[in-house]
Amino acid sequence: MSPQQLQLPDGSRIPYILQRRARRTVGLRISAEGLVVNAPVRLSIKTLETMLLSKAGWIQSKLQARQDHPAPVMHWQSGASVLLLGETLTLDIHNRPRQRQVQIDAGRLSVGVPDVEDTSAVARKVLLWYKQQAGQDFQRRLELYAARLGVPTPPLYLSNARSRWGSCNSRGEVRLNWRLIQAPAHIINYVVCHELAHLKQMNHSPKFWALVGSLYPDYKSAEHALKQMSAQLHVMSLG
Ligand SMILES: [Zn+2]
Repeated sequence: MSPQQLQLPDGSRIPYILQRRARRTVGLRISAEGLVVNAPVRLSIKTLETMLLSKAGWIQSKLQARQDHPAPVMHWQSGASVLLLGETLTLDIHNRPRQRQVQIDAGRLSVGVPDVEDTSAVARKVLLWYKQQAGQDFQRRLELYAARLGVPTPPLYLSNARSRWGSCNSRGEVRLNWRLIQAPAHIINYVVCHELAHLKQMNHSPKFWALVGSLYPDYKSAEHALKQMSAQLHVMSLG
């Protein structure tokens, strides 16, 4: 990871963080720290920057948008709101070192920790619980829809990807982003059906979408709703 600067023709500069990765294409993302570029290990800086310059307009508008609408941050303290299956719950944190389990009680997510001021311990405990809920919930949905599609239930892995909600690889393994457990059930069902359909169609062809539609007829509105709430689903983090 190294800080770089892209010099624009008008003399201004865009700072960026360069991360070399075992990949074939260049990936750009706007993070809280600014522009992050993931580039193939052997790509020269010159080639890379020529490519970045061709996208300078897009990069600048994204950076500006981020500045105008900073992503909301999660405050790990009592009273903060969290989402679970589309329902808003209120965090209720107390000094209760012996309360091992996170519990849901009348719209509250109750978390016992040795020290309520230790927000990173609270965050770790809640995130671990969310991932457990996600694993159980997604597994059930995957089994249900795999049966409808007439295929064996594929192995499920949870992911923490920044930009993808799900993926399915050529080995038939399905990855679902644990953050989806915050979304309403119909959105999770859509993503599950989307990835399952890839077991039969490894592409986004009309045949693929027809298959998705046969499993999950209302997929268009679910896909739209997921885009709408995407930023919200990323609020919950350790940071
Ligand atoms: Zn897909």
